[in-house]
Amino acid sequence: MEHFLYRRAPSVEAAVRTVRETTAAQFIAGATNLKDFMTLGVVQPQTLVDINDLPERYRRIDSSETRLRLGALVRMADAEDHPAVRARFPLIQQTLALAASRQIRNMATLGGNILQRTRCEYFRGRGFACNKRVPESGCAALEGVNRAHAVLGTSGKCIAAYAGDFAQALITLDATVETAGGRRIPFAQLHRLPGETPDLETTLSAGELITYIDVPAGPWTQRSRYVKVRDRDSFQFALASAAVALHLEGNLVREVRIALGGVATVPWRARDAEALLRGRRLDEATATRAAEVAFADAQARRHNAFKIPLGKRTLVRALLETQAMSVAHE
Ligand code: SF4
Repeated sequence: MEHFLYRRAPSVEAAVRTVRETTAAQFIAGATNLKDFMTLGVVQPQTLVDINDLPERYRRIDSSETRLRLGALVRMADAEDHPAVRARFPLIQQTLALAASRQIRNMATLGGNILQRTRCEYFRGRGFACNKRVPESGCAALEGVNRAHAVLGTSGKCIAAYAGDFAQALITLDATVETAGGRRIPFAQLHRLPGETPDLETTLSAGELITYIDVPAGPWTQRSRYVKVRDRDSFQFALASAAVALHLEGNLVREVRIALGGVATVPWRARDAEALLRGRRLDEATATRAAEVAFADAQARRHNAFKIPLGKRTLVRALLETQAMSVAHE
């Protein structure tokens, strides 16, 4: 690991100013993702600005009838255990509980989790070509071992899958992130498709700090579920996952929100599949048709073609299990 300077920021303003005015500076909070990459030498900040001393309000969870407001410094485990999250936003609770290990969730913050970087092994290994790590250097995964890589949202420059789970809940539930200074970004606009510039991963500007995450409550938030399929159940990233939120009238779909994980380069909303389901009876046949639509544009590489049928089955299962949930209020 290279030498770096370490500073503790007493306020948001000081943190943002320091990162903006210092060469190669980065925020650090839980450090569960950044530390790995620093150890591997993939990321080499010259200054780390620790934001753990920021005021208490950034560690709070507030809930009302209309929304959930999460401070960006809330630890994943604390959000997972929060009564309002458990009772009213089961999708959020499940995506958190199925992410990483409890030890990591005790440390990792919500703001850091949504900005976690790819698990692509070629990104993590400095001896390989990687456009995300070194722009215009190539992509070793295109012809390499790409079993874990994405089939949706890929480009000729990068096929790395977005690794997170919590983000799938946020994009499903139309969350918004707020940054220092008050800019609000719809969650669906936070992550960038790789396109020609896979090194640009988000729409945040340099030194822009996420401070809050807002999740609106709707008639679909209680009937919501996350299904995650992985190589080992104890602790692993998704090969395929599906987040579903449903508002039903009998078996008729009044509203539906769907996101797919493990199969796409960014948190992935399956809007065409939602459109197919809206106003129809939900059964195995319609769920299967929705899954076909969700993966209609999927493009497999040499080792990851299995993700397309796996992703479809995962979505069908998530839709039917969400339908079967017992819900207090809808
Ligand atoms: Fe790098 Fe993306 Fe290619 Fe992986 S898939 S090697 S992250 S450019």
